[in-house]
Amino acid sequence: MPEGDSVYRATARLHQALAGQTLLSSNFRVPALATTDLTDYSVHEVVPAGKHLLMRLRPPAAGSSGFAAKPLTLHSHLLMEGRWDLYADNERWKKPAHTARVVLKTPAVTAVGFDIAQVRLVPTEQENDLIGHLGPDLLGADWDPELAADNLRRNPRQGIGQALLDQRIMAGVGNVYRCEILFLRRLHPLVEVGQIADLPAVVNLAHRLLTINKDRPRRVTTGQERTREPLWVYGRAGKPCLRCGSPIAMLKIPSTPEGAERDCYWCPHCQPAV
Ligand SMILES: [Zn+2]
Repeated sequence: MPEGDSVYRATARLHQALAGQTLLSSNFRVPALATTDLTDYSVHEVVPAGKHLLMRLRPPAAGSSGFAAKPLTLHSHLLMEGRWDLYADNERWKKPAHTARVVLKTPAVTAVGFDIAQVRLVPTEQENDLIGHLGPDLLGADWDPELAADNLRRNPRQGIGQALLDQRIMAGVGNVYRCEILFLRRLHPLVEVGQIADLPAVVNLAHRLLTINKDRPRRVTTGQERTREPLWVYGRAGKPCLRCGSPIAMLKIPSTPEGAERDCYWCPHCQPAV
């Protein structure tokens, strides 16, 4: 699961390369869109919404039939493995061609979406059907910390470790930030949301961590960018806690609504059960 900050960076890169470009060809390698042809559509903008990537396309001018097509939104969700790459003409792709799901060719550059789990194309006016379920976007222009805290409070028996990954509460936190936020707030991963005194502090920390990292190539939660240990607990099972020296532990927490179990790293000493 990518974090909101990496989707933000991927989106900014695509927007810079593609905005204003007209498509010379499109090639969809997903069954539902196999016959779709977006030739002559132009890329209006590429924007992030939580961990979703929205490419807004303008149709070619109405032809002799007088029929004007609608603006479309190409939605992609990168999930675990997905990524968008940009290539010059004749440049070798960094991933095998059979893993490409979308190929969009423009005069300037070719954008290739590899291993993208979800690719959908909808009229832009229906875009909200795809992302309307998301809570406030941590990196969005309309970020709303009060609403995010209210969404958390709505299910007081839910464990905080599970709630932080629930994109319906707030959008953008992936597993790395989930673990780091819990550590920095000294919260046991299974503590119930209703038992946490200062939920706004949790929400504001999430916003601060994603914001300071959104334009950095390397994700850091421990302080300076050049530090040897960029993260407090994530991926450090068995290694000494950077604060107290106790071994970092790991437990599996089912995520909602997907149900998949995700490893949660934590320090049993710094994050005691309440
Ligand atoms: Zn510790």
